[in-house]
Amino acid sequence: MQKIFGRKPLHPLWVMGKPYYDLKSYYRNNFAERVYKIQIDAGFTCANRDGTRGLGGCSYCDGRGSQLRRQGELPSVRAQLEEGKRLYKRLRKATRFVAYFQTFTNTYAELSRLRELYAEALSVDEVVGLSIGTRPDAMRAEVVDLLSSFTADYDVWVEYGLQSMHAESLLRINRGHTLAEFNAAVAMLAGSGIKLCVHVIIGLPWENREMVLQTADFVAGLPLQGIKIHSLLLLEGTPLYREFQAQPFSLLERGEYVSRVAAFLERLPPEVVVQRLTAEGYRDIFVGPEWARNKLQVLQHLERYQQEHGSFQGKLRSG
Ligand code: SF4
Repeated sequence: MQKIFGRKPLHPLWVMGKPYYDLKSYYRNNFAERVYKIQIDAGFTCANRDGTRGLGGCSYCDGRGSQLRRQGELPSVRAQLEEGKRLYKRLRKATRFVAYFQTFTNTYAELSRLRELYAEALSVDEVVGLSIGTRPDAMRAEVVDLLSSFTADYDVWVEYGLQSMHAESLLRINRGHTLAEFNAAVAMLAGSGIKLCVHVIIGLPWENREMVLQTADFVAGLPLQGIKIHSLLLLEGTPLYREFQAQPFSLLERGEYVSRVAAFLERLPPEVVVQRLTAEGYRDIFVGPEWARNKLQVLQHLERYQQEHGSFQGKLRSG
């Protein structure tokens, strides 16, 4: 077991020694095995692109879907999982896997189709869980019931994009849903046994530190088990990039990003699993901020900042 700051972990759940409850610790605690999430593109579309909720999508989204999709016909869910297993077994010595339906809106289809896809994933050997990425407005009671039926045997998560609690921000990024719809989607999960992970973005150019921390306080009050914090990325071909070209705005500096993330974490309960702390990828269309190209460095800066400031997840909730 690693130790933080030369001492034992700050919280008994944080067995990897980070100043927050990282995903590796969660998997160790729950499975005592090396578990990895395998990203799946099951061919879904997005209601914020096809006109049902909106057109053009969220302003930061490149809308291209997975790399796999760009290569041609998508392999089956089973084939994608088997390929992911091979990779993670070889590179990470993984022994168990979570099927992460990631691309676009993974509840946006008929119930029968969803049942088929999720069941296919869970029938693959060594798969111990599901994680379903979706929009809050695309969740419905029958899908909650379906996912809930898996929870006795599998670790089942739903990942809702929120990005910000502020109405102005939801409008400006063209999310195509309101905070009230997000709240209704969260309420739908009550008593279902499904775990909730919420996605937020830090770095929206018009959001100051106070606004970000208001989102943190809001999220901390939810019945959630996980969080993904993304840094805002400026990507070629997105509406946000076109806005930037028309009227350039400044992107967050790394130091400010790191200090906002640390302050965000201080507000979260210590049992909330931190599944992501910065965005990554998109090398071919990446514009900025420059520092966000290097995820490892961002994480190192965050840990150094936390160490120097005695900052850790849940700090503002203790005592
Ligand atoms: S970020 Fe998600 S919800 Fe928004 S347009 Fe892209 S796929 Fe759709």
